[in-house]
Amino acid sequence: MIRMLLIGPPGAGKGTQATYIAKKYGIVSISTGDIFRENVKNQTRLGQIVESYLDSGQFVPDSVTNEMIRERLRQDDAHNGFLLDGYPRTVSQVHFLDEVLANRGYELDLVLQLTAQMEELVQRLLLRAERENRSDDTAEVIRNRMALYFEQTTPVTSRYGERGILTRVDGVGSISDVCTRVSTALDLALGSSSRFTTVSADNSLEWALQL
Ligand code: ADP
Repeated sequence: MIRMLLIGPPGAGKGTQATYIAKKYGIVSISTGDIFRENVKNQTRLGQIVESYLDSGQFVPDSVTNEMIRERLRQDDAHNGFLLDGYPRTVSQVHFLDEVLANRGYELDLVLQLTAQMEELVQRLLLRAERENRSDDTAEVIRNRMALYFEQTTPVTSRYGERGILTRVDGVGSISDVCTRVSTALDLALGSSSRFTTVSADNSLEWALQL
């Protein structure tokens, strides 16, 4: 059973790697961005609250994001491990998550950070904009999201670095190259402890074609 985070700048390929890791370890992948987008699409109450933040590339207020995550982690499928993709992104979210987990006697096993150069990231996002029509993949909003990531998330990764649970992986290269790197890094970081069962060695990439 693994409880882990996936952190990376916009365009680093978090979604693809999250799918890969979740499948490898048989854990649920929880993406704050996906949950928010789904709620906006369905125009739920949460969706109406967060829509303007997503459109402008700003962070959704911590109070909203934190409560959403607390509720999500309460669901049955998160009891046997999880991968959080895109959360926490601020130091206050780090503290909130620590508390939620500690209340249940849990702690994080690992934080995986995907890295990439800024130019590569912008290129990927502009490509994705042509394909997926996301409201936040325009040049100006991309700049906003990048700036926020580097400003707000650097202190987050430093915290986990100090705890000794941060592993960095270069996210530049083909999807299969990055999956291999991620896999090697996870195996190394988690060791061969029987707590961390690999449920599938399937390297098939058909399901992992998103950026
Ligand atoms: P990206 O990392 O490429 O910006 P995501 O899908 O992870 O894409 O997030 C999309 C948007 O969802 C963010 O720009 C932000 O508005 C909101 N969001 C996602 N995660 C968080 C979070 N942890 N805290 C605040 N806002 C968030």
